[in-house]
Amino acid sequence: MDADAVHFQTLPTPEERAVAAGVTDRLTADGVEPRRHWTHTLHHIDDLPTPVSGIDDTFTPFKRAVEADSPVREPFGVPALPARPAVDGGPDELPPVQALGVDPVPTDDRGVLPFEGGETRALERLEAYVWERDRLREYKETRNGLVGADYSSKLSPWLNRGCLSPRRVYEAVQRYETERVANDSTYWLLFELRWRDFFQFQFRKHGAAFFAPGGIRERDDVDWRDGGAAFDRWKAGETGVPFIDANMRELNATGYVSNRGRQNAASYLANDLRVDWRLGAAYFETQLVDYDPCSNYGNWAYIAGVGNDSRDRSFDVVGQARRYDGDAAYAKRWCPELDPLPPQYAHEPWTMSEAEQREYGVELGVDYPEPVLDPTASGGR
Ligand SMILES: Cc1cc2nc3c(=O)[nH]c(=O)nc-3n(C[C@H](O)[C@H](O)[C@H](O)COP(=O)(O)OP(=O)(O)OC[C@H]3O[C@@H](n4cnc5c(N)ncnc54)[C@H](O)[C@@H]3O)c2cc1C
Repeated sequence: MDADAVHFQTLPTPEERAVAAGVTDRLTADGVEPRRHWTHTLHHIDDLPTPVSGIDDTFTPFKRAVEADSPVREPFGVPALPARPAVDGGPDELPPVQALGVDPVPTDDRGVLPFEGGETRALERLEAYVWERDRLREYKETRNGLVGADYSSKLSPWLNRGCLSPRRVYEAVQRYETERVANDSTYWLLFELRWRDFFQFQFRKHGAAFFAPGGIRERDDVDWRDGGAAFDRWKAGETGVPFIDANMRELNATGYVSNRGRQNAASYLANDLRVDWRLGAAYFETQLVDYDPCSNYGNWAYIAGVGNDSRDRSFDVVGQARRYDGDAAYAKRWCPELDPLPPQYAHEPWTMSEAEQREYGVELGVDYPEPVLDPTASGGR
């Protein structure tokens, strides 16, 4: 290989570390210097107040410590690079995915954003969300939304693909606080980026222990079920609980789903159906456009009660549907067969009498599934 050195990002999870080790071995054998870099967090790993092994396993002490004692570095400027070499004498352009034998993914008009890759699109989204549409000032109030581009930043795919640095987001928030407003919402976006950091450092600390059924808490009191029919119905958005089905259908159709939706879908699988939470996390891994091993498995473990919090994290999914989707617009958007129903029945179709099913033209078991689990079994908050 005609190169002096290869620079690459390092991630903290075991599979990604194994890949990096393989690349390192191969480069070294070829006489090329491997240069790994920690690149992707808001707080650099070398700037943490304690070594990673000393980080608290709960978020709040971590957040307080980094807020007090870990200054965020400035983003790098644009590097001066030589022109990209032409590919085989052809035009100086990246080939489209079709040329690589990959079918383009069909888009769904109901999706929150098209999510085109690359730094240019990432910076456009940051600019649009923060400055043009001025949505940062109310982020904390809107972030539990379910429909539309602007209830949250939607920066996660670009952050996780390396198109956008969290430090660049931090810089934008700081400038916004100086030029427009500093409030709970501006703070909260950084608060969420610190959750992202927290999971990165937790995986660096605990490694493979996160992927055991009982997680880092080493719980052995839960009898996790294998996949089976209930898991298949959950994946397909056919559980018979509209709020869960809508979220799973959005995920399947677009690769994105809100944080509120992810929490409920994960809780339903892990805490109600009691299917092994790792199967759910692995399914998310195959679908999410913003998939990141630490954020995904860390959040799943947290909700399944085997991660970074000892509190019961199970959700009352019907209560959540009523609270966050009062008019059932979200449920009906992704389960249009429920459109004729008033909101209460659109969230709890199993409470309709047979006469009501006939009246509205929505027959359970025909037009929309019967619930996979007794609906009164959904617990928690
Ligand atoms: C079961 C489950 C699985 C998840 N899997 C992923 C995943 O694979 N990749 C991923 O990026 N996020 C994941 N999340 C976290 C969160 O849902 C998404 O980061 C968020 O919905 C992305 O949308 P946004 O950029 O508009 O977020 P915003 O609300 O605008 O938040 C800004 C940024 O903060 C970070 N962030 C926000 N919430 C969290 C959180 N709970 N944990 C870690 N980082 C957070 C993200 O980088 C996000 O882009 C998961 C959450 C759950 C409950």
